[in-house]
Amino acid sequence: MSQITVDENAPAIDVQQLHKYFGDNQVLTGIDFHVDRGTVVCVIGPSGSGKSTLLRCINRLEEPTSGKVFVEGVEVTDPDIDLDALRARIGMVFQQFNLFPHLSVLDNLTVAQTKVKKRKKDEAVEVARRNLEKVGLAEREDSYPAHLSGGQQQRIAIARALSMDPDLMLFDEPTSALDPELVGDVLGVMKDLASEGMTMMVVTHEMGFAREVGHKLVFMDGGVIVEEGDPRTVLGDPQEERTQSFLSKVL
Ligand code: ADP
Ligand code: MG
Repeated sequence: MSQITVDENAPAIDVQQLHKYFGDNQVLTGIDFHVDRGTVVCVIGPSGSGKSTLLRCINRLEEPTSGKVFVEGVEVTDPDIDLDALRARIGMVFQQFNLFPHLSVLDNLTVAQTKVKKRKKDEAVEVARRNLEKVGLAEREDSYPAHLSGGQQQRIAIARALSMDPDLMLFDEPTSALDPELVGDVLGVMKDLASEGMTMMVVTHEMGFAREVGHKLVFMDGGVIVEEGDPRTVLGDPQEERTQSFLSKVL
């Protein structure tokens, strides 16, 4: 289906000198970073620091102004890339779930499988049920999103992304819209995914998750990566003044 040829030896994500402007507003300034396969990279930083824009440049929901992005060795910033094929390999989970409100849970999980992956309905349903099981919501396949809690909706959104068999997953503050008592279930699903070896890039304010599950922590401020490294080291012994100042407010 895909006309994309993956390089098995390349990192999952490789960002080189990425710059992004919105009009005159420079939002990303020379971002260089990579995500190794099978690892979890968490991104933290104040509001407006460019975290979402960086994430969205990786699957070209935003167009980088300059610089290069590679996903599994394939240049995403190549103007001729097949964007549907690219995005089928990258699962994305947003703060606001973005489920289709007029579709049942099961239909939410099968629609892209049949349309984009060209799966037969039976197969799509089987894959969907397997992923609903995985997020602990097998019994809710006939529900509509409005009848589910925020935490359940987000677990459905994760199951929907997984049903496309992505090679990597991008999460943009997946628990920020949730009531505190619902955060744990969603983080639990993400932790399970990580332990299965899924490559994940997670923008989050959940420092406990970053410390426990993350292989690398990136701190962004003002459109640059200020500091990155082992999560325990960055959180416990930040080297940069801006990191120290941010962490003193959130920890
Ligand atoms: P974060 O996710 O770290 O809060 P964002 O990447 O959302 O930061 O935003 C970084 C900056 O880019 C902010 O100043 C924001 O206003 C601006 N921005 C984000 N998206 C757009 C857009 N679509 N059009 C114009 N400005 C934008
Ligand atoms: Mg954001």
